Amino acid sequence: MNRLIIAIDGPVGSGKSSVAQRLAGLLGYTHLDTGAMYRAVALKAMRQGIALEDPAAVEALAIESRIDFATSNGSLRILLDGEDVTDEIRAPEMSQQASLVAVVPGVRRVLVAEQRRIGAAGGVVIDGRDIGTVVFPAASLKIYLDAQVDIRARRRWLEYRGKGKEVDFDLLLEEVRERDFRDRDRAISPLRRAPDAIYVDSTAMEAEEVAQLIALLARERQKEIATAVTAPPAHR
Ligand code: C5P
Repeated sequence: MNRLIIAIDGPVGSGKSSVAQRLAGLLGYTHLDTGAMYRAVALKAMRQGIALEDPAAVEALAIESRIDFATSNGSLRILLDGEDVTDEIRAPEMSQQASLVAVVPGVRRVLVAEQRRIGAAGGVVIDGRDIGTVVFPAASLKIYLDAQVDIRARRRWLEYRGKGKEVDFDLLLEEVRERDFRDRDRAISPLRRAPDAIYVDSTAMEAEEVAQLIALLARERQKEIATAVTAPPAHR
């Protein structure tokens, strides 16, 4: 069977990462979490005291960084220059930092090239903001995952609480709105639904249900591709 490139885009808290990870498991694909790459560059900038307002310095940092993905006990780990930074990049303050790093064109150029290299062979579920529009505009299946903003903030709140971090809900809601605005309104690769992306509203759905739904769509798409390849030319 054809191994697809599946692009999942959507705003913060729409469930992209959990859905992408489950979906990759269902299909036996690799999961590429592109948000983690922006977060890793932001973490390195913070550690080295590099001002995010200095695009040339942040771009240089992205060029010299090595970001790898590994699986340990079924969970995705992110390695920055060989160091496991999975937990650190998920800290609440890293979300805003990542979205600031993500507006630097040079950083996007470096990370997008790396994402294309990793995903090119197919058999991959890639989640982010610009996957179906910029990174893989010819992806075989594109999903735009969305949910109501208060539900998205609540998911983040529960996630932090699960890790023992108490965050004020109203502040978090404000932060989600701010990040939505920055991701949708930036000049380069803003968050957009690609015209051929399937819109999925996950407000009332669990990640597992969404993953099952997309797995069905993926199997349908594989059949369509197989039929298109084997069908004889139509009679005129
Ligand atoms: O998805 P996640 O919340 O981990 O992404 C962190 C930030 O990285 C986003 O708010 C967005 O600004 C940026 N990002 C992006 N393009 C992607 C993935 C993430 O600009 N493909």
